[in-house]
Amino acid sequence: MASVAVVGAGIIGLSSAVCILERDPTVKVTVITDKLTPNTTSDGAAGLIMPIFIGNSPNHLQRKWFKTTLDELERLSQRDDSGQDLAIYKTTVFYVADEKVEEPFWRDLVDGYRLLSQKELAHFPKPTKFGYSFTALFFNGKYYLPWLIERLKRLGGIITMKTIESLEELAGTYDVVVNCTGMRARELVNDCSLYPVRGQILRVYAPWIKHAYDRDTKEHVSCGKHCYILPQANGEVVLGGTAYHNNFDTRVDADDTRHILEATSQLVPSLKRAKVIDAWVGLRPFRSSVRLEKEEKRFEDKIGQERCLKIVHNYGHGGSGLTMHWGCAMDTTDLVFEFLAAPKQLHAKL
Ligand SMILES: Cc1cc2nc3c(=O)[nH]c(=O)nc-3n(C[C@H](O)[C@H](O)[C@H](O)COP(=O)(O)OP(=O)(O)OC[C@H]3O[C@@H](n4cnc5c(N)ncnc54)[C@H](O)[C@@H]3O)c2cc1C
Repeated sequence: MASVAVVGAGIIGLSSAVCILERDPTVKVTVITDKLTPNTTSDGAAGLIMPIFIGNSPNHLQRKWFKTTLDELERLSQRDDSGQDLAIYKTTVFYVADEKVEEPFWRDLVDGYRLLSQKELAHFPKPTKFGYSFTALFFNGKYYLPWLIERLKRLGGIITMKTIESLEELAGTYDVVVNCTGMRARELVNDCSLYPVRGQILRVYAPWIKHAYDRDTKEHVSCGKHCYILPQANGEVVLGGTAYHNNFDTRVDADDTRHILEATSQLVPSLKRAKVIDAWVGLRPFRSSVRLEKEEKRFEDKIGQERCLKIVHNYGHGGSGLTMHWGCAMDTTDLVFEFLAAPKQLHAKL
């Protein structure tokens, strides 16, 4: 029986593990992780399905991963046994800016995309000059990850709680290792091109907010400050945020909190009445492009024996891990099965 280890139980690891098992339930899949829901970055994410802060992965790949994920979430939301529990929902997003920006390359993939009229732009704070709206899907990692774990277990997958110091320690035990360690791939596989984009958000209770807003101003974006308002299915609203490149600080910052409250209530004044429930900081695992590829790593073990470890990397999704997860899981699964289908002598050195 082929055996695969998936390191990491954020949205990227869990979806990859589920996808491998759904392709072939006879494969033994073990998820190895030291953090589980609700303690991963994927649990804290805002939940908007829209490509953002994802580096320069080729557009055709981003489009494929985004579309595949949208289709999967649409499919799940239609099911009476999961759509409700997963709190997948849709609402209109209004994006506005104080200067003309390029229209998104994915606009044909979403429903209802259109440019805002001058009359509509006039409703936003000055000097808003440009904007578009579309229908976006949202979901909450805190509901989705436990459901992925149940789905994994139903398919026979196993979860082992352990910190992996080096992927090489898994050689000999697994035919293929899938690396879904998010930001911590930086140390695990010594990838200095992976760095954090620090994000702070607030959760407030404001069930009267029914639409999502994202506003860019020149003044804010240049210093990594953003302004977005993202209603959730349960009456909570995520207010954001920051995008500080190369900042590793995971403490909540009082100045950032002040900026978020001021900027969002300038956009939607009724937010001044909203009760703050929580403030959270997470590190977006940012890279020039997502690392989704195979690697055959040859090395000498402790007793000088040559070994080969087959790795599929799937990390570096920046601010779009939720947005791209299912498409990336499908491509990861293809690479895992390419490895498993390779002639046996390649395994001989393991
Ligand atoms: C403020 C903020 C808002 C965001 N909003 C959105 C959004 O609206 N939409 C969107 O698409 N994305 C959003 N993101 C981005 C999203 O959160 C990430 O892209 C995504 O969570 C990355 O998932 P992951 O599974 O790779 O990493 P993680 O969720 O960090 O999971 C990594 C896993 O690997 C395990 N691990 C790591 N190293 C080891 C090791 N050595 N041994 C054992 N286990 C290990 C960890 O325990 C964990 O289980 C947001 C991020 C932030 C910070």
